[in-house]
Amino acid sequence: MSRVFNFSAGPAMVPEAVLKQAQAEMLDWQGSGMSVMEMSHRGKAFLSIAAKAEADLRDIMSIPENYKVLFLQGGASAQFAMVPMNLLGDKTSADYINTGAWSKKAISEAKRYCTVNIVAETKGDRAPKASELRFDPEAAYVHYTPNETIGGVEFDYIPDTGDVPLVADFSSSIISREIDVSKFGIIYAGSQKNIGPAGLAVVIVRDDLIGKAKDTVPAMFNYKTHADADSMYNTPPTYTWYFAGLVFNWIKQNGGLPKMAEVNARKAAKLYAAIDGSEFYANPVEVSSRSRMNVPFTLANAELDAVFLAEAKKVGLVTLKGHRSVGGMRASIYNAMPEAGVDALVAFMAEFERKHAN
Ligand code: PMP
Repeated sequence: MSRVFNFSAGPAMVPEAVLKQAQAEMLDWQGSGMSVMEMSHRGKAFLSIAAKAEADLRDIMSIPENYKVLFLQGGASAQFAMVPMNLLGDKTSADYINTGAWSKKAISEAKRYCTVNIVAETKGDRAPKASELRFDPEAAYVHYTPNETIGGVEFDYIPDTGDVPLVADFSSSIISREIDVSKFGIIYAGSQKNIGPAGLAVVIVRDDLIGKAKDTVPAMFNYKTHADADSMYNTPPTYTWYFAGLVFNWIKQNGGLPKMAEVNARKAAKLYAAIDGSEFYANPVEVSSRSRMNVPFTLANAELDAVFLAEAKKVGLVTLKGHRSVGGMRASIYNAMPEAGVDALVAFMAEFERKHAN
């Protein structure tokens, strides 16, 4: 068996050391005689696993005490609805920044609940500049997507929304570098990219934003339900929670977020240099907005796309096909993608260009 470099946008690569640890603990977690997936979520063993995962995430992200960390089902998509359901209170509008496909999904869901002001919009080829943002001081909150997974567009700054809570869909860039959590009202992310297997949304929410939902909001969609029950109101996705904990611990043992950020910046720089240094490959995103997690690129001749994918696969570089809405290629290079994977991709791209460009 040999493992490939998997450039999937998510579910995505997991650190090999973590897979091995999960494998070693699969049949008998620390002498309990059972797998974590067989444990009651209310038992002592699982409660300790859950608490450790949260403590490690708090540690690596330096999450302040006045924030709750919720481990919820429904993925990031459920948060598109839960955010307005929980934050509107008596207000009737919210501000959204639109930078691409995932912003749009969040916007269309919010429109079911309130008036959506688009405070800035780009063609999906850049993040707006801070000076372009026109916030409404009466808005219940401001929502944005710090990293657009499909377009490969990432903010290189945190918008300043004053007293209006800032809500961020960090699905594809959470724990890829340090951020100042205190600048946010809510940070949420699906688990299947930097955190681990699918099945979980991690929601980091400031205390004062909990408890504002109307009575008509279902219990399962109310942050207060989950905050009061330590995310155990009903059965949580226990195995994914455990696995996320292994990943958080792996990050802690490997230099924390400063180290992740350093390696991620280097990986992205190498890949963009390969693209920019050739006449054959291109990336349409403005340089200051280029994602360090998802790198879309096209070949000069789209007829070669299938050949590129087939030849890449032969050398163990897989899932490079771009999103169906944009075509071309996309290399997702989350924390768990080793630098050697990017080096191999860059070498393959040069060789492919030499063979096929004329
Ligand atoms: N937001 C972003 C930025 C994403 O990349 C994704 C998934 N690719 C989602 C939301 C949706 O996540 P989920 O599938 O967990 O609902």
